[in-house]
Amino acid sequence: MRGKRGKAYKKLMAAYHQTFGFREPYQVLVDTEMVKEATRCTMGLPAALERTLRGTVKPMITQCSIRHLYALSTAEHPNKEGLIAIAKGFERRKCNHHELEQPLPEKECIESVSLKNGHNKHRYVLAVQNKDIRALFRDILGAPTIIINRSVMILEAMNAASRRVRDGTEREKFKAGIVEVQEKKKKKKRGPKGPNPLSVKKKAPKNLAPSDKPAGQAQGGGDTEGNAKKKRKRKHGKGGEGGGQPVSAEAAISSADN
Ligand SMILES: [Zn+2]
Repeated sequence: MRGKRGKAYKKLMAAYHQTFGFREPYQVLVDTEMVKEATRCTMGLPAALERTLRGTVKPMITQCSIRHLYALSTAEHPNKEGLIAIAKGFERRKCNHHELEQPLPEKECIESVSLKNGHNKHRYVLAVQNKDIRALFRDILGAPTIIINRSVMILEAMNAASRRVRDGTEREKFKAGIVEVQEKKKKKKRGPKGPNPLSVKKKAPKNLAPSDKPAGQAQGGGDTEGNAKKKRKRKHGKGGEGGGQPVSAEAAISSADN
């Protein structure tokens, strides 16, 4: 896969590596709807998964899912044998529901093998076409989900909870356990997290500074750009246009608040 999407997926998988400890070969849990949809659009699942995840994969399917495929009516699914053959090519994920007379509904089965205390314990990638099953993972940390949409396999964007962990300060907490992460999130919400008013005021003139470059300030060759800007600011302050600065500060503060 090339282009923008390929780059985005590469970055996304790098984040799953770094923040959530994902490693190749990625264990990809597939549901029966995914097997059907891939077949419908003549997509080879393992190869498509590898292209999408930018790495090697180990597709897996639960015992219950396989039983659901066997239970399909041939009238409704003339390609039933083909679907079963594809699924048999995957590693069979033991769910220990095989002793039940009927297979568990896939949602329950997949939930039971993948989630432990709300945690994607085995670091599964979920290649799941069934909406209800996908919904199980909407708020789970580090749970990459794959769907086929209009014959294109898509790695969905990281969910909000995972993004918060990726982006921040909470990474260490995550390693210590999910409960701590959740507690920290609550605390964060309570805390007023506005911009420091002092720093906002400092920034204000910068925004309105003229964009012309100080070509004549060659004497301070080693100076940073910041120094050059400071000098310019001071000049403007003395320049007599006193009304300009308070107004600009206000504007900057209001824009920072937005
Ligand atoms: Zn099962």
